[in-house]
Amino acid sequence: MFRSLHMKLMLIISLLIILLMTVVGAFLVNSVSGFYLRQFYTQMQEVFQNDAEFVHDLQSVSSSDEDGAEQLNQMLRARTGDLGVDGHTRNYYVLDGVTGAYLAGTNDAEGAALEMTYNLTAALTGEVGDTSNVSLDYIDVAIPIRRGERSYVIYVRDNKQTVQDLTGQLVTLILEALGFGIVISVLLSFLLSKTLITPIERLTEGAEEVASGDFSHKIDVDSRDEIGVLTATFNDMAGQLESTLQDVENERNKLGTLFLHMTDGVVAFSREGAIIQSNPAAEEMLGRALPLGGEVDYAALFGDIAPLEQVLEPGAQGYVAASRQQGERSLELLMAPFDKDRQAGVLVVIHDVTERNKTEEMRKEFVANVSHELRTPLTNIHSYAETLVDSHGAVPPETEQGFLQVILSESERMAHIVRDLLTLSRFDSGRSELSLTRFSFADAIESMVSANLLEAQRHGHTLTAALEPGLPEIVADRERITQVMMNVVSNAIKYTPDGGTIQVTAGTAEEGARVWLEVSDNGIGIPEHDRPRIFERFYRVDKARSRESGGTGLGLSIAKEIVDRHDGDIRIVDKPTPGLTIRVELPVEGPRRERA
Ligand code: ADP
Repeated sequence: MFRSLHMKLMLIISLLIILLMTVVGAFLVNSVSGFYLRQFYTQMQEVFQNDAEFVHDLQSVSSSDEDGAEQLNQMLRARTGDLGVDGHTRNYYVLDGVTGAYLAGTNDAEGAALEMTYNLTAALTGEVGDTSNVSLDYIDVAIPIRRGERSYVIYVRDNKQTVQDLTGQLVTLILEALGFGIVISVLLSFLLSKTLITPIERLTEGAEEVASGDFSHKIDVDSRDEIGVLTATFNDMAGQLESTLQDVENERNKLGTLFLHMTDGVVAFSREGAIIQSNPAAEEMLGRALPLGGEVDYAALFGDIAPLEQVLEPGAQGYVAASRQQGERSLELLMAPFDKDRQAGVLVVIHDVTERNKTEEMRKEFVANVSHELRTPLTNIHSYAETLVDSHGAVPPETEQGFLQVILSESERMAHIVRDLLTLSRFDSGRSELSLTRFSFADAIESMVSANLLEAQRHGHTLTAALEPGLPEIVADRERITQVMMNVVSNAIKYTPDGGTIQVTAGTAEEGARVWLEVSDNGIGIPEHDRPRIFERFYRVDKARSRESGGTGLGLSIAKEIVDRHDGDIRIVDKPTPGLTIRVELPVEGPRRERA
């Protein structure tokens, strides 16, 4: 209850009023008492000190039988007005100067029972007793008087009743004013708090709405005072906060999308090792679900590579790098702490390097193949040429002719390999552009078949072509497509024992959108396990046989590159042995990219 601003204001104002009244009251009461005291002594001084005639009269004896006390009594009675003596609150007494016994005065009852005060004692010893003491509840003055042989003491005493009445009234007045003040303070604080608190309450409501995430609500600014400025600042702050939050949200969404679709796997762990975030790539690479905060933790996933403590403190390098074989996959792992100073947790980035390793393997294999393929003819050329040089013309001319023939054919073979490699390298680097034209597919097949007829006949093969009627014109690089068909047909001729049958068939597929060509032979065929690899560079089922027939092992890989570039398809048709059937499919309207 006392926490509300209203109560606090009321308390402060009330306390202020009470304090003020107390100070004023004390000051007033004190002043009144002081004034009364000074007034008393001034009056006494006027009569007993300044009025020399009166003092003289007091001390003069008029006749020998006079009653001194009575004389003094009468003289004093005549001056009661000057002395302020009223017989109630202030009295005078004439006392015996030796014994202090009461002789006469304005109040006999009190006079008879006078207490021996400090001033009175002083007067009895012959001194004027006029010492004032505010703490006493009376004021008095005692003056020793010598009249002839006798001595008296005139004692004036005030019981401060007047001043007490006065201060009593003052206190009552102050208390009344205080009560009134407190009532006013309650009303005032209520009004004040209303004006002060209403905008603060609105500000609080606004702050609560902002805290709950609603930034649309703007608080009205009515006043130009500090609260008005605060409200305006608050509105600005809410606006800033909204745009900052929006930016953060956008940034988070961006990162979230990136995180979700990135090809690298990422798993974040808390410093205790629980998963706090992971992306689908990480789940795929690790081959398991990675539920947040679930059973699977850092120790279970990567504990074998490096303990969590080591990754949290990775040393000067700033991260821990490792690699691992996960089933078929080769993974590279990079582990680093995030928010290093606070050691908030660990981030593991997983990179799938299976493809890269495979490519690297293939590259090495390719280089080894190229070296090997070129070395064989080169060795032959070198040894025949060397024999010829060393013989110094002693070799019979027919043998020499034979040697030179070998040198020639081996160098042609090398040139063939280099030419094929160049073709492939042009495809790899994208430097080989297709020169697309529209031509008759049937014409192209027929001229290719007739070009191979002679070679087929030399091997005693039967080469036939059966084309669907009405084959369309196609958009393609005629020269390259012919190269593909030639390669497939010449392979059929090469790998079919003499006297075989080679059939070329062609037709349309996909409602005329594609054309196909199949070349089937009844030759040696390809074993099942070699089939997936025959489009690889330098892959040959029977190396010796291929080399013998002048093959490089690059023909089908070049054919595949050409067909791929046309958005077509080349594959082995799944047919029972003997022999092999190769099928080539091409889009009638050319490669998609070119069409676009
Ligand atoms: P090559 O120059 O050796 O013929 P290719 O790339 O044209 O190279 O063919 C790759 C390999 O595929 C050949 O070495 C051969 O072993 C096999 N091959 C290709 N066509 C046939 C076929 N019609 N019958 C049997 N084997 C074939």
